[in-house]
Amino acid sequence: MTDIIHLLPDSIANQIAAGEVIQRPASVVKELVENSLDADARHIHIIITDAGRTLVQVIDDGKGMSTTDARMSFERHATSKIKTTGDLFALYTRGFRGEALASVAAIAQVELKTRRAEDEMGTLLKIAGSKVESQEAAFCAVGTTISVKNIFFNVPARRKFLKSNETERRNIFTEIERIALVNPAIEFTVIENDVQTMHLPPANLRQRIVQMQGKGINQQLIEINEETTLAKIHGYISTPQFAKKGRASQFFFVNNRYIRHPFFHKAVMTAYEPLISAAENPNYFICFEVEPDTIDVNIHPTKTEVKFENERTLWQILMVTVKESLGKFNAIPSIDFDTADAPDIPIFDPSKPASMPKVSVNPDYNPFQASHGDGSRASRPRLDWEQLYKGFENEGKETSVSPDPNAALFQAGHSSSLTSPKHYQYKQKYILTSVKSGLMIIDQHRSHVRILFDKYLSQITDRKGISQRVLFPEMIELTSSEASSLSEIMEDMEALGFELSDLGNNTFAIQGVPSELQNIDAVALVRSMIDKNIETGCNIQEEVHESLALSMANFTAIPVGKLLSEEEMQLMVNQLFACQSPNHTPDGKAIITVISDDEMDNKLKSF
Ligand code: ADP
Ligand code: MG
Repeated sequence: MTDIIHLLPDSIANQIAAGEVIQRPASVVKELVENSLDADARHIHIIITDAGRTLVQVIDDGKGMSTTDARMSFERHATSKIKTTGDLFALYTRGFRGEALASVAAIAQVELKTRRAEDEMGTLLKIAGSKVESQEAAFCAVGTTISVKNIFFNVPARRKFLKSNETERRNIFTEIERIALVNPAIEFTVIENDVQTMHLPPANLRQRIVQMQGKGINQQLIEINEETTLAKIHGYISTPQFAKKGRASQFFFVNNRYIRHPFFHKAVMTAYEPLISAAENPNYFICFEVEPDTIDVNIHPTKTEVKFENERTLWQILMVTVKESLGKFNAIPSIDFDTADAPDIPIFDPSKPASMPKVSVNPDYNPFQASHGDGSRASRPRLDWEQLYKGFENEGKETSVSPDPNAALFQAGHSSSLTSPKHYQYKQKYILTSVKSGLMIIDQHRSHVRILFDKYLSQITDRKGISQRVLFPEMIELTSSEASSLSEIMEDMEALGFELSDLGNNTFAIQGVPSELQNIDAVALVRSMIDKNIETGCNIQEEVHESLALSMANFTAIPVGKLLSEEEMQLMVNQLFACQSPNHTPDGKAIITVISDDEMDNKLKSF
């Protein structure tokens, strides 16, 4: 028998490699623009025809290539960015594998025009399906222009796999957005089908965010800035008031490249947690600068997943940084604008001499500091209550949970709506109800989390969840690690009522959702369940079940700010007390507190 093993011809090897790097026109845009940035371009033009199917062209004013380099750049593993393995750990460039141009040339018709400043003439090179068709000297400006025509012209199966123009176009803009945000000093122009559809003049980060997201975002941006030995962190986060349900703009960058990082995302969300409801998402644009040898960008072919050496410490640093910025921001408007429970100020009498008003602000105020042991409730900067209502002070008492229990009682008393027993909803956040020993305060969101958690958990264990088919299945695209996490929890998700079908390529269709979920962002929920599974990293079945039930409960529980009817409050209280542990949420936050009659009497005695 003759030997049967032979080496694949380069053209086939390149096509196979191309499958990893170039999935769609957006990948071409990404690779070409990243090369332009690596070549120190200041102005980058992106020209797209037919959502990139017919043409993706990138024109830059970077350093250009010599004639030999122009030819070499299309070879596999041809790169100017690393020479030794040591360089791999000191990377500041975006590329380094030397695969992108070889891959592009394997699956499209490519034209390269390039000139360095020191050369009089440039080079024009044409290559299609990995075959060089011509190479000649050419007049051209300093910099590089690469045109990629008819992507997948020689791989019909993959060309067919391309989605609608709308989807491909959206993917292209997603890539452009990720790159442009973190390179604000670079000017970008996008021309689609001969029409200029985007122009981003050089800017700073804040201006670039506004250029890309619209003027409305400017007023919600809070700066963050922290320098530690492990990392510099800077960027912008949105004020809690602007957090919204569903998709938000959330970006992490490390050393100027976009990354996805569910673990760090959790750090940001933990910082926001006391200030927004679980279903809301803040916008954030957070850049890390770290020593290149402390990260590994190699773990994902498209390099959006990055492993950090000091992940846990960075998690803490990030969480505290975001908290601090939110704290600084929050201290001001809550004094200025939140007058709902401020005391009446006597009407100004012009006949009396004016005196300086006495208002004191606690400079060390931190809205995250537990006011009364709950660990997550915000206390507000206080007006000088003592001056205004002598003895009307409650600071430091163990039992209260409301940010300002005095005001709560004060208001309730005034509106005389707290007749006994009557549930009273305070600030669309707490349910107040009278119990034998005093006044009970129930956090409505947390209470609902507990009720739903118990319900979902028993659905998982009894495999009783009822699924409701959706009319228009939504697609969810995952990274490989997310997809493998999803397969771990798939069976339990089905027990809850999800129906997910694997479309291959780490893409899933959500065909059905638990029947009790209505008007929810199913993609965001599935994502949050996957993220939670990755983050907890547990594989003990019970814990997996609990984590799934908790993320679903957090996602679907009624938020703070929801007005409840008397019947709804009644139902909530009944259901809460039917739970085995009504006092705490599954993750240990207090749900209930009681202010005893004695305490109230004591407080009022000094009046
Ligand atoms: P990598 O970026 O990983 O090095 P690529 O295949 O993307 O690999 O590019 C190969 C090489 O071609 C780069 O290392 C660089 O030297 C050169 N190159 C590619 N694009 C440009 C450009 N726009 N300007 C200058 N040089 C470029
Ligand atoms: Mg590259």
